Parts: sequence; structure tokens; C-alpha cells
Amino acid sequence: MRAAVLESYDEPLAVRDCDPPTPDPDGAVVAVEACGICRSDWHAWQGHGDWADDDVPIGQVLGHEPAGRVVETGDRVTTVSSGDRVVVPFNLGDGTCGYCRNGHGNVCTGGWALGFESDVPGAFAERVAVPQADYNLVGLPDSVDFDAAAALGCRYVTAFHALAHRADIAAGDRVAVHGCGGLGLAAVQIASALGASVIAVDIREDPLAMARDVGANTVVDASAVADVPAAIEAETDGGAEVSVDALGRAETCRNSVRCLRPRGTHVQVGLTTDAERGEVALPTDWITRWDIDVLGSRGMPPSRYDDLLRLVADGTLNPGALVTRRVALEAVSERLAAMTDYGTDGIELVTEFGR
Ligand SMILES: [Zn+2]
Ligand SMILES: [Zn+2]
Repeated sequence: MRAAVLESYDEPLAVRDCDPPTPDPDGAVVAVEACGICRSDWHAWQGHGDWADDDVPIGQVLGHEPAGRVVETGDRVTTVSSGDRVVVPFNLGDGTCGYCRNGHGNVCTGGWALGFESDVPGAFAERVAVPQADYNLVGLPDSVDFDAAAALGCRYVTAFHALAHRADIAAGDRVAVHGCGGLGLAAVQIASALGASVIAVDIREDPLAMARDVGANTVVDASAVADVPAAIEAETDGGAEVSVDALGRAETCRNSVRCLRPRGTHVQVGLTTDAERGEVALPTDWITRWDIDVLGSRGMPPSRYDDLLRLVADGTLNPGALVTRRVALEAVSERLAAMTDYGTDGIELVTEFGR
């Protein structure tokens, strides 16, 4: 089968023939129909492994946002069959630990990060193996196509879990979203659909226009205002109830905390860059003074995908609307390179894998 292999950091991926995967007794193999190209792939490709868990070995097949059809299952798999249409969570649980059994498989300490570890090669490939298939694979409703499912990727599910489950937003909340890449736009669309009033922040014109299209009530061009938190405070009559840093730079993280009203909630979903290397100084005394909650969130437990897929199936949420480009496997490297200067908009997918 064809796959895009990381042979050297920051160099084009090598698209070449690899041995197709076989399922382990508890696993399954999925023929990939679509796979999102994500900033986490970019971090891995850049070799940013020292401070985050995007540490990948040379020889890795990247790609962690696949949707496709099951083509093979292991002997012990009982609930998944060949032909099933599925989406694959990127943070795979072992299905047996306390976190998994209690519905928190996204923080399983014995699990795998698909496409980031040598024993779970990723989905920039014609086929991908998924361990613990009964626990991890999520069936797709007929009305959700593969492109929309791949667009859920890590970004859309992370945004949904962050807003719906972690911050538990309510209708009428004022929600600020800092950074309008794929993750930020997903947060804008989801917060708006869940009844929030949304303020989107970025420094680029096109993402701000897209943010308006997918539900932002107000946009703030951070390059045009002297003080982003003050601008949000003015727009929200005292600050946001919930704010999301969807970019992971020191400035967006601090702005996200500082734009909150008393008792507000900051959710960190963006991973930091090589400027921060995983650490950002925050106004801690101010956080203390105003009963501010600071939350982290990544991925979503497989058992909670149904909450999200119901809303996609009934048209409340439209992840497919964030897809801006569909490319062949050969073009992944070029699309990763475009991320270096924030030159991509929305969510881009690989949809052609064969010759
Ligand atoms: Zn587990
Ligand atoms: Zn991702």
C-alpha cells in the first residue's frame, strides 16, 4: 500500500510502498477514505517533541484524523465488522484501565496517539491499523460522509469536548475564541450552534471572514487593536464567560485568560510552539482574585462521540463546512509546509491515496 513516511524532520515526506497492516487479535484495519491534515502533524514533522507529545520517530507514517471502512478485524473483535463505516479517534484507549472504563478514554495512560508512535502508524496511507477496535472505533451514521467525519479529526472533537463537556457552556454564554485555524473555527461553529454568543479573534482577514460565516457574532482583528482583552471586555459588557485558546502562543493564551469575567473559564486546546516550549506565564494572582477556572482539553473519549455525531447527523453542526481543500497523498508535505507561515485556512483533507 502507499503511505507518506517521515524520513527527516522538516523535509518532504516520502510517499512510497509499505507493507499493508494486519490486525492484532483485538484490532481492526481500516481502508482510509479521508484523513485531515493537522497542525499536530506539522509539530511532529518539525520535530517539536521535546515539550509536547508530538514526539515522533523517524520512519513514522503521520496522519491521525482518518475516516474509512473496516476491511479486516482480529479474532477477538466482537462489535466491529468488515464494511463498517467508521471514524477513528486519534487518542486511542487501551479499553481496560480505570479511565477507559469510566468513560475518559482520551486520557488513558496506557493508550496510543495514532500516527505519533511507531507501534501505531498513521493514516496518511491507504490502510491504517487500529488497536482495541471494539473500544476505539466509532460507527458513522449513514448521513455523515467520510469527508465530514475526517474533518472531525482531532480539532473538531477537541473543540466539542472542550466546550460541551469540559467548559459545559450554556445557551447565552459569551464565548471568546482566540485563533481561527481549523481548531478555532470548529470552536466558533460549535459554540454558536450550542447557543453561545461568539467573539472570534485572529490577525488574518480570511479566517476572520470564515469565522463570521460559521457563526461568530463579532470578530476582533488582534493586529488592529492595542489590547485584545479590553476589546473583548467592551464587546461583552465585562468579559467572556468562557474563552478558548485555539492557537497555543503565549499571547493568545494570556489574552484568553485575561478576557474573562469573574468566575470565567479558560480552556487551553492549542499546543504551544517552539517559542513557548510548553510553558506560558499567566496572571495567576488575577486568576485567584476572580475565581477563574483554567482547564486543559484534548480529544474526546470514544464513548462520547455519539453526543457529537447526533448533532452532525441532524444538521446542527456542519464540520464539512470547514473543509477548504482536498488533496492527494503526494501533496501532504506541501500543505504541511504552508502551515509554517500560517498559510492554510480551515481544514484540509487527504482524499486520494492510490496511484
Ligand atoms: Zn485506558
Ligand atoms: Zn489533528
